[in-house]
Amino acid sequence: MSGENDRESESVVSDELLKLLVCPVDHADLRVESSDLVCTRCGRRFPVEDGIPNMLIDA
Ligand SMILES: [Zn+2]
Repeated sequence: MSGENDRESESVVSDELLKLLVCPVDHADLRVESSDLVCTRCGRRFPVEDGIPNMLIDA
């Protein structure tokens, strides 16, 4: 057992990518919640599809 392939169901994006991403509205940090990224400040949700966060803002 190597235990190196156990992140697939844990996080939709890598820690490295999450550090680079901020909310496009207020530039606050994001956190992972199920299959979405959620802004820690305004609470906007950004769906992640195939590991790519959709950072578009609803008008
Ligand atoms: Zn925000």
